[in-house]
Amino acid sequence: MEKKEKLICNKMPDTVRVLGKVFKIEAFKDGECEDADGMTRVDEQIINVREKPAIAYCQDTLLHETIHAIDETLFLKMTERQVSNLASVLLAVLKDNPEFTKWLLIPE
Ligand SMILES: [Zn+2]
Repeated sequence: MEKKEKLICNKMPDTVRVLGKVFKIEAFKDGECEDADGMTRVDEQIINVREKPAIAYCQDTLLHETIHAIDETLFLKMTERQVSNLASVLLAVLKDNPEFTKWLLIPE
């Protein structure tokens, strides 16, 4: 049997807390939801991400799905394009500005 390339996304976090709700983060299983790279089920508090070789792709997808969780929790009615663009630009700003990002994460 052909050994399938097993990808790790550099070990995604297990959970993400969104406005007090803890969402479980799980990789899609092989063959599961093959038409999507990510999925958020707010009612079940689960975020699925497709594992891919490029960690940046997984990071973008996980942030994208987290923004969907925020959007649905707050009934913002964001479009798919808004969610995609916000995830990509937010990730880029955080990565392009490590000192800024470090400062933002200083605990109260
Ligand atoms: Zn989406």
